[in-house]
Amino acid sequence: MIAMNNRRYAMIANEVWDGVSGQCRSNLAVIVDGEKIESTCPVDQVPREIEVVRLGADSVLLPGLIDAHIHYSPWMGPAFLAAGVTSVRDTGNDLDWIAAQQSRNSSDLLAGPQIISCGLLLDGPRPYWHYIGRGHPDANALRASIREEAKRGLRFIKFYDGLDQSFIEAGMKEAKELGLWVLVDFGTDEPKAVDAVRAGINEIEHLTGCPVAWHNSSQAEQDQLIDMLLARKVVMTATLITYCQLGRMQEMAYRFDGRQAWAHPTYRDIWRQIPPAPLAQRDKFQEATLNQKRFVKRLHERGATLAVGTDAPFAYILPGFGVHDELAMFVDAGVPEVASLRAATSGNAALLGLEKEVGRIETGFFADMLVVSGNPLKQIHNIANVECVVRRGRVLPLEQLKARSVDECGKTLDDPITRDLQRYMASAAQKRASSNAS
Ligand SMILES: [Zn+2]
Repeated sequence: MIAMNNRRYAMIANEVWDGVSGQCRSNLAVIVDGEKIESTCPVDQVPREIEVVRLGADSVLLPGLIDAHIHYSPWMGPAFLAAGVTSVRDTGNDLDWIAAQQSRNSSDLLAGPQIISCGLLLDGPRPYWHYIGRGHPDANALRASIREEAKRGLRFIKFYDGLDQSFIEAGMKEAKELGLWVLVDFGTDEPKAVDAVRAGINEIEHLTGCPVAWHNSSQAEQDQLIDMLLARKVVMTATLITYCQLGRMQEMAYRFDGRQAWAHPTYRDIWRQIPPAPLAQRDKFQEATLNQKRFVKRLHERGATLAVGTDAPFAYILPGFGVHDELAMFVDAGVPEVASLRAATSGNAALLGLEKEVGRIETGFFADMLVVSGNPLKQIHNIANVECVVRRGRVLPLEQLKARSVDECGKTLDDPITRDLQRYMASAAQKRASSNAS
């Protein structure tokens, strides 16, 4: 337990990783003043009057992690922080609701991470999600939604899989004029990405729309798509964990995952109720995961921009801890530890337009940091050994975050993503019942 008396203090860990460099540095104190990092200096040059927080013998101080793809619900906040995730990008939520959460988290540091919003899932005539998405009968309606989101100050918008190429082209024209960054989830492995990239989209979620990422394709086939992604500077938010989890639904192992103690009981119920996919679909997702790893490795080798995201709180993806899992999958795929960690810190910060604020341990940046034991640059699993988390200069002890999580997990949920998942589960159960009856 770290007792803090002052707004200005020096944090001394065994090693510091700044979010960019190839390795950690030892003998480096990080001086925090209020919300920001005032400076870094050799340990023996820390001014005498400053309170010193001395961390353990194998401690490593690094920038707070960033999850570039989530859908926020209030119970997730303390879990994100406990896992060292201090900023998230919400990639689909109700506009007013997420704005309220953004301001709540900026005034109440223990409530949850900083949230950047992508607004609603902008969908086609038959919207898949009712509360976090919005349907559009035609391109004019889509353009009106895009203007509405721009007016609210959003920098990111997201196109969902019900929008066909004609919608995407019309929407991109509007988005370009307004200077918006457009993410796309195509919801499928059908070859939709090429045309959408030509239309100017900026980022692809879950490697959807890219069959070469899902199937046993040759390197030449992969490179053909990657050449295009590089030429158009398209960011790939792979979320390897998403289809991996879908291919493993209801595995016994989930029941023994102690990290589920951070999950709201409603979500533990929802996850338990998701029926195992039919075998053919399970096979497809498991095979896709292996191929997606090969593709992610190639994207890295070719210098494409990979973002780290998880899609929490879908199928057993735990807020925050899912980032540790995604990083382990990056490394397993062949992306080196340092490159994976850069993607989750300074890389994601740049993607979110926060490159001068978070994602690095550097003078003038917000003091959003985490302390782990063991060097994650040498062994990625060390990222899960979180000892303490700092958000906006304030040290948040894990026991305080746990108490906050218990509190949030005791509340009845009535937020857009929860309502949508409950609605989805009810209609899936109904479909199963009627197919059993016939
Ligand atoms: Zn998502």
